[in-house]
Amino acid sequence: MKCPKCQFDNREGAKFCKECGANLEVACSECGTVYDPSSKFCDECGSILDQEIDPTKPDFTSEANANMSQFFSRIFLVTQPCLRDWILKN
Ligand SMILES: [Zn+2]
Ligand SMILES: [Zn+2]
Repeated sequence: MKCPKCQFDNREGAKFCKECGANLEVACSECGTVYDPSSKFCDECGSILDQEIDPTKPDFTSEANANMSQFFSRIFLVTQPCLRDWILKN
């Protein structure tokens, strides 16, 4: 099986690439079946397989960080004395 990272042709059933050490087998998060990283769907339960190393995917971490900073800026506004007074008065 080919390594998704370096394209090295490893033996069939290999769990790790012997060229770059990449994981060649990933387990389905739904049923735990080990699948080939090139598969898009689990052949056991049919769930969509999440490709962990996909550069085309949107970066969820940065989105979470944006939400987090929005949350903190809101807290910051609320803790500002004049704004807090305004909120209490209204
Ligand atoms: Zn490799
Ligand atoms: Zn599955």
